[in-house]
Amino acid sequence: MKIGILGGGQLGRMLIQSALKYDDEFYTLDPAADAPCHNISYFTQGNFNDYQTVLDFGKDKDVVTIEIEHVNADALAELEKQGIKVVPNASIIKTIQQKILQKEFYKAHNIPSPDFQVIWDASEQKVEKAFPFVQKMNTGGYDGKGVQVIKGEEDMQSFWTEPSVLEDMVDIDKELSVIVARNEAGETTTFPVTEMVADPKLNLLDFNICPTQLTPEVEDQIKSITDKFLAAVNSPGLFAIELFLDKEGKVWVNETAPRLHNSGHQSQEGNANSQFEQMYRVVKNLPLANTQATTFSGMLNLVGAEGYTGKVVYEGLEEVLKMPNTYVHLYGKTHTKPGRKMGHINVLASSREELMELLVKIKSMVIVKA
Ligand code: ADP
Repeated sequence: MKIGILGGGQLGRMLIQSALKYDDEFYTLDPAADAPCHNISYFTQGNFNDYQTVLDFGKDKDVVTIEIEHVNADALAELEKQGIKVVPNASIIKTIQQKILQKEFYKAHNIPSPDFQVIWDASEQKVEKAFPFVQKMNTGGYDGKGVQVIKGEEDMQSFWTEPSVLEDMVDIDKELSVIVARNEAGETTTFPVTEMVADPKLNLLDFNICPTQLTPEVEDQIKSITDKFLAAVNSPGLFAIELFLDKEGKVWVNETAPRLHNSGHQSQEGNANSQFEQMYRVVKNLPLANTQATTFSGMLNLVGAEGYTGKVVYEGLEEVLKMPNTYVHLYGKTHTKPGRKMGHINVLASSREELMELLVKIKSMVIVKA
């Protein structure tokens, strides 16, 4: 089968890596000539936001999928009309692309997500939310950009005038993530919940561990969320649902990514099958894979260190490779800059304590320099 992927980044790269044990041809589209997929797939350099470029890319494929959601969804809708299979379908990508529609989707399906006010026109509308609230741009948000906390009147000078949602601030105890999948036949699966520990400076996912220690009440709330989501989504796909657990034990949906996700990387070695295997099966409408966690696993991102821009050097990586149960994944990016995701390391352990110790140790051993 000819499988086309919009985006040629690390998520696409690891999907292809995992799927090479099957018999398909992978095609990728990315604006960067040296994108992580450029030398491992049939590569087209081009803009996945451009209508005609996406149409031209997709028209001779059997199925088109995405590894980034900021793509031209109108072109995907047109491809669907022309009989090309698009996974996930264009309409759910459109909904998720726009924070306003995404929040309305949760509300319409009774999926708990922080209460919100929609701002279409900041010059005409009054802010009704009480301080503090979180302002999220309707479009263009990514990795912490397009999200700001407005604590009080004094922050209103930085209030964005673009369409946005104003969301109640959650008193966060834990940030969790759950990856669900649904194939065309309607079969569904859920990966074990993972817990994220963010780097407060860079706002990029830092450690991600699995399984989590959750009470049965919290597990039930998450099960109810994934059930409702999978029933409502009406499209084949793999989706990462980012959750907040608040200090009172209530679970809220922060946002959903309609694609492979950084919070699922530990599944490469920590689960019976990875999110990449599952995504492949979704794209091909194959029976879905067993998602069970086989041990304690965790992931840490290899992120470009502050103060280094240029040809990448991974200091300390060989020491990490000497350690057992440690797995290095690099993304084929030749140049680093502060905060750039260059790779990740997965670690397996026999207890949560051992896992945390190893993650903290490895983090201090490696530095991504130029
Ligand atoms: P992005 O997609 O850019 O990562 P998110 O919507 O995930 O943006 O927000 C980034 C971070 O901001 C979250 O991981 C969380 O720590 C914080 N945040 C987002 N929404 C809220 C909220 N309603 N209450 C409290 N913190 C929030």
